[in-house]
Amino acid sequence: MGAFGAAIIALQNKKSSTTLVSREKLLSFSCQTKNTRCKGCENNCLLNIVVFSNGKTFVSGNRCKNVFQNKKVQNFAFNMFDYKRKRLFDYYKPLTMEKAFRGEIGIPRVLNMYENYPFWVALFTKLGFKVALSDNSSNALFNSALDSIPSQTVCFPAKMVHGHIEKLVQKGVKTIFYPCIP
Ligand code: SF4
Repeated sequence: MGAFGAAIIALQNKKSSTTLVSREKLLSFSCQTKNTRCKGCENNCLLNIVVFSNGKTFVSGNRCKNVFQNKKVQNFAFNMFDYKRKRLFDYYKPLTMEKAFRGEIGIPRVLNMYENYPFWVALFTKLGFKVALSDNSSNALFNSALDSIPSQTVCFPAKMVHGHIEKLVQKGVKTIFYPCIP
């Protein structure tokens, strides 16, 4: 099995001399590695470049062969995340405070609001609320409510919820819609 088995079989079937490097060459073998980013396109692949003592190189981490051309290979692609964010959160214009006869209600921009926000904002707007949405997620927002998280075992998105609610509280929003939806 494995390397030893392959070596024994190779020894038994030895018909010509090996093409492997000699022991002497192996002892003087050396290589250096470095990391860099390919700027060929927006993937910005992290490349691992190995330079051997004989001057040859081996590159890994590239997702296409154009890495060797060292030039921009394609136009920057459509930003689907940006499109989705605008489609979801700019979908419905919230009421102004003057028109919101029921007052203001806050919605944290978290979890399944990335699917259902258009429904909730439409519903609350029709009911006469001004919907206040929390800001986009960020490290600062995440860090702002770490002291309110009761357990480290909850997942990162769940921890992020605390920051969004904290943000709404800081904005003075008195009522926050955060239901349990099975
Ligand atoms: S290796 Fe190819 S896919 Fe990766 S960044 Fe370079 S050009 Fe783009």
